[in-house]
Amino acid sequence: MQKKELRKIFKKKRLALSHSEMERMNDLILLQFQTIPLPFLTVAHSYIASEKHAEPDTSLILRFLQFRYPGIIIAAPRIDADGTGMSHYIITNFDQLELNKFGIEEPSGGKQIDRVEIDLVLIPMLAFDAQGYRVGFGKGYYDRFLAHCRKDTLKIGLSFFAPVDRIEDTDPHDIKLDYCCTPERTYKW
Ligand code: ADP
Ligand code: MG
Repeated sequence: MQKKELRKIFKKKRLALSHSEMERMNDLILLQFQTIPLPFLTVAHSYIASEKHAEPDTSLILRFLQFRYPGIIIAAPRIDADGTGMSHYIITNFDQLELNKFGIEEPSGGKQIDRVEIDLVLIPMLAFDAQGYRVGFGKGYYDRFLAHCRKDTLKIGLSFFAPVDRIEDTDPHDIKLDYCCTPERTYKW
C-alpha cells in the first residue's frame, strides 16, 4: 500500500480505540519494550504522546528507563518556529510542556541537547512495514531528525497495530527502524 492510503486507514483505526483498550495496549507495549536487549543509555529521546491522535504512550517506558538507568537524561522534541525542523530539549518534569500549533505537547524551553548525544529514540508513527519502514504524518520530521543522529542510535518505533507487508512508495530519505514494539510482539531488523 501507499503512504497516503496507510495514513488514512491507520488514523481511523487509532481513533476507533477506546481509552481502556489503549491503556491495556500501552501496558503490553511496555512489556514488549522490556524484552529488547538495550546497551547502557545516557540520553533517551521520546515523543510526547498526543491523546488527540491516540498515540502509544511513552511515559511508562520513560519511567522504566529512569529506573533501569538512574540519572538518564530524557529529551523531547520541539518544532522550530519556521516549521522546518525540530530542536531537542531536556525534560525533567512533564509539567513544563506546552501545546504547539498542531495540538501536540512539547517542551516550553530549557536546555537543548545535540542530536549526536542521543542513544535511543522512541519514534511515533501511523504505520510500519515488515522491512522496518515507517509512515509518519507526512511532514518528514523524524526522517530529517534521524538523519543527523549517530549511526548506532537505537531507533525504536511504538505501534498499537501489526505491520503491513510493504510500504510501496518508500523514499531514499526514509530511515528504517531498528525495533518496533506492538502489544503482541517486538519486531527487530
Ligand atoms: P513521513 O516520514 O512523515 O511519513 P515522508 O517520508 O513522506 O513523511 O516525507 C515527507 C517529506 O519530508 C518529503 O517529501 C521530503 O520533502 C521531506 N524529507 C524527509 N526527509 C528528508 C531529508 N532527510 N532531507 C530533506 N527533506 C526530507
Ligand atoms: Mg518518511
